[in-house]
Amino acid sequence: MATLSLDKVSKRFGETEVLHGIDLEIADQEFVVFVGPSGCGKSTLLRLIAGLEPISGGTLRVNDADMTRVPPARRDIAMVFQSYALYPHMDVYENMAFGVRILGLTKDEIDGRVHEAARMLQLEPLLKRKPRELSGGQRQRVAIGRAITRKPKVFLLDEPLSNLDAALRSQVRLEIARLHREIGGTMIYVTHDQIEAMTLADKIVVMNEGRIEQVGSPRELYETPANAFVGTFIGSPK
Ligand code: ADP
Ligand code: MG
Repeated sequence: MATLSLDKVSKRFGETEVLHGIDLEIADQEFVVFVGPSGCGKSTLLRLIAGLEPISGGTLRVNDADMTRVPPARRDIAMVFQSYALYPHMDVYENMAFGVRILGLTKDEIDGRVHEAARMLQLEPLLKRKPRELSGGQRQRVAIGRAITRKPKVFLLDEPLSNLDAALRSQVRLEIARLHREIGGTMIYVTHDQIEAMTLADKIVVMNEGRIEQVGSPRELYETPANAFVGTFIGSPK
């Protein structure tokens, strides 16, 4: 299980503070969606949680353990990026196996995990293909598959659908929802698409300029936006 707790987390790049004291609790197995305008700090917050950037202030805990000195590979967190960074010289199988090699599993265990992920994502017929022989949607599914094979407790997905066309976007969105039902895990998902947020989230976090404006269920945000910014962003009548 994985419960995340952020206490006054801040981030500076040089002189500029881009996240200002973020307080947030994320429950085990929760599907949390971060929304907010471009540049408000969503990706930076994910990178702090993944350990790809050090935090400048505050505390980040996973299951009550302080993560400050825990390197990314030991955080039990997998991240899926907007631009699916697959290895071009490796086929789909090798791309999905790559992330688990460092876990010290046997060849059979790795094989089992890759096939399980491939089945869930309907990638089994494509295992021998190279990334250049795949469509955008297929590539993004491989990137998701690579995260699944690691069986992390926390999945971080940073605008995973934004490079897909509209039809594929809704298809992969449904797959992500199904994956969460099948394999569980705490999901932290960034998007600037309100429909994705409203359909996927147990809880939505609305960000603006490095701060959290409101946290609530899709319905709470729609019906009782805390301020005009949230109302406008979520598209509710107020
Ligand atoms: P979002 O994902 O919400 O669009 P980001 O987290 O990417 O926003 O960026 C938040 C702010 O931090 C932006 O003003 C951005 O320019 C700045 N920023 C992000 N990464 C860096 C970096 N490595 N160095 C300096 N500034 C950065
Ligand atoms: Mg971003």
